[in-house]
Amino acid sequence: MAKKKIVEMLIESATMELADTKTIRLKWPEDYDVSFKTGQFITLYWPDSPKYKRAYSLSSCALDQGYFEVTVKRDGKMGTRIVDWAKEGDSLYVIPPTGRFLPVYEPEKHLICIAGGSGVTPFRGFAREATRRGLPTRLTVLYSVRTTRDIIFDTEFRELESQNPHFKFRVTCTRLSEEDPWSGRRGRIDTPWIREQVTDLPNAVFYACGPTALVEGTERLVIDEMGLSRDQIRLEKWG
Ligand SMILES: Cc1cc2nc3c(=O)[nH]c(=O)nc-3n(C[C@H](O)[C@H](O)[C@H](O)COP(=O)(O)OP(=O)(O)OC[C@H]3O[C@@H](n4cnc5c(N)ncnc54)[C@H](O)[C@@H]3O)c2cc1C
Repeated sequence: MAKKKIVEMLIESATMELADTKTIRLKWPEDYDVSFKTGQFITLYWPDSPKYKRAYSLSSCALDQGYFEVTVKRDGKMGTRIVDWAKEGDSLYVIPPTGRFLPVYEPEKHLICIAGGSGVTPFRGFAREATRRGLPTRLTVLYSVRTTRDIIFDTEFRELESQNPHFKFRVTCTRLSEEDPWSGRRGRIDTPWIREQVTDLPNAVFYACGPTALVEGTERLVIDEMGLSRDQIRLEKWG
């Protein structure tokens, strides 16, 4: 099969991660010939509406062979259709992975992944690959959610953290009630919290992904407030 060919893939499984967030696993057809990297996105469309195409970051990693996984929040037309309707046995057309939101797995680097809500999806891929390969690259996910019920991949991130001494998963909740027993951090991601978590700023490479407001907010924090250079930040805006 030729590279970069658009192919129809069966949904092998559909898993609700949260009440409004679903992971679908798309099975590669026989002889599917693809080369791709962790952090890239695929573009999907339904067979009955070929003109309506939408991009989704891979939440699986390049070591996961035989399928792609994407994790979708119920939002807008495509997001709602996938979360409410996509089920095992359905099929979707898949435009192969592309994109430059790629982890720099260099030994001395510290990758700081700033995520809000569903913007955490590609970072599961980042952490999976680094952990399975036993890489020395440090990786820290700073994840902002409204409440503890909104943490996507909580169990997997905590397992990866226990397996990988170079990986840290840190959550901050922005809208918990005062009575909530959560003992972790509260409030938005801000410069003091980042400085507390990242003591080696010259080696840091920041990643921010998701809705434009979060990505631009991170850009302001890193460039304007913290004074880091543009080549220390990688952005993926979802629009
Ligand atoms: C590179 C890339 C990677 C992405 N990765 C992911 C991912 O991993 N997971 C994920 O969930 N999404 C991801 N997205 C976003 C995804 O492509 C879709 O845009 C998203 O699922 C929403 O579907 P839609 O575009 O069909 O929404 P649309 O129907 O086009 O709506 C777009 C936005 O407008 C709002 N809207 C629509 N109608 C109204 C209205 N009448 N009034 C007010 N607001 C309205 C919707 O709530 C939505 O926020 C990614 C996007 C890009 C570009």
